Amino acid sequence: MTDDQGYHDVGFNGSKEIPTPYIDSIAENGVKFTDGYVSFPVCGPSRAGFITGRYQDRFGFTTNPTQDPNNETAGLPLTEDTMADVLKKVGYKSAIVGKWHLGTHPKFHPLKRGFDYFYGFLSGGHNYMPEMLTVEDITKVSKRWQWYSTKLRENHKAVELEKYLTEALTDAAIDFIDQHKKENNSPFMLFLSYNAPHTPFQATKKYLDRFENVENWGRKRYCAMISAVDDGVGKVLEKLENENIKDNTIIFFLSDNGGPVKHASNNFPLRGAKGDLYEGGTRVPFAMQWPEKISGGIVYSNPVISLDIMATIAELAGASIDSEKALDGVNLIPFLTGEKKGKPHEYLFWRKWEQNAMAVRHQDKKIVAAKQWEKNGCELYSLKEDIEEANNIILKESLYSNKLIKQWENWNAQMKDRVFPTLGNDDWWER
Ligand code: CA
Repeated sequence: MTDDQGYHDVGFNGSKEIPTPYIDSIAENGVKFTDGYVSFPVCGPSRAGFITGRYQDRFGFTTNPTQDPNNETAGLPLTEDTMADVLKKVGYKSAIVGKWHLGTHPKFHPLKRGFDYFYGFLSGGHNYMPEMLTVEDITKVSKRWQWYSTKLRENHKAVELEKYLTEALTDAAIDFIDQHKKENNSPFMLFLSYNAPHTPFQATKKYLDRFENVENWGRKRYCAMISAVDDGVGKVLEKLENENIKDNTIIFFLSDNGGPVKHASNNFPLRGAKGDLYEGGTRVPFAMQWPEKISGGIVYSNPVISLDIMATIAELAGASIDSEKALDGVNLIPFLTGEKKGKPHEYLFWRKWEQNAMAVRHQDKKIVAAKQWEKNGCELYSLKEDIEEANNIILKESLYSNKLIKQWENWNAQMKDRVFPTLGNDDWWER
């Protein structure tokens, strides 16, 4: 998973500016999803949905949580199972390397949420350069954004960063695979959660030199940061090849939300950006490979969502799911092999609880109330002819629109209100 990578900022979606040969190889050797979505247009809630396979609104994770490590509510509720919890039941070892963002209180620590190994940081963003990491841990943070400067943790222990963060995350991922293969015959799951290309824009000369022709200060760094991730993906693929497990390992690649355009990303041809329920906020670079079962070169255009990853791997691993925690995702494999006809999802739903915003995708249509629904009303777009969401056709199709709204209301009736304070809107932030 990358962080804030725009829809067009990957070779397999047409970027000519940022070469991403290794990431592209995942799509080429497997599947490119043209209409791959996440369940929320910013980091925290998107990750909460991804890691549980459930709409995060079901458990009130409606916003980026406060980073306050004393707040016992601000994280993924303990009533939810992560994909690591579920896979543990069938003998998997799991690691998360990189960004967590699902709670900073000790009760939410990855090692308490099914993971066997953690190397990374708990908060929603981080500095990339070793000399910038001067705060011992999140309990020592005394002002806004200082969590970007906390030392990395290996499990519970503070560790010194010795190189550019993206490279260190790649190394930790490879070391985990290496150690695991030496010590276990069990299968493993690795959540490699790069924070690039999320701000702050920081890259080393090695990567910046690849983008000498990019003039914009931010864009140059953003490109360089993605290039570093691509190198990392290449090294992980090489490691799997060397261990002779590449063909029978499923790899998903996606961004946790759309690119924040003002920060130099490119969501072409989509409207909107990170934070929006227009396509630019929720439709992301999305690909997967599993060479042993899925032939390469598939371009799949029915809508899929990040929640499907949990459902896919849980079903393949034979892991059971508690009925009270039924998944919203579906196993994608039968749709990719052609064993199942039709679409994985009849409807996809989104909600931004604070902003009273909503969206529904149904076939090629999308209804969206981008903010303050009660004041601004809804818009309807036909994405097949109008991927840019430029021609609002709601007046022409009001009966159909009302049907979609009804579907959303039925879904929304199952969702919960927010269960914790929003980042930037609590005493800890204000102190
Ligand atoms: Ca993000």
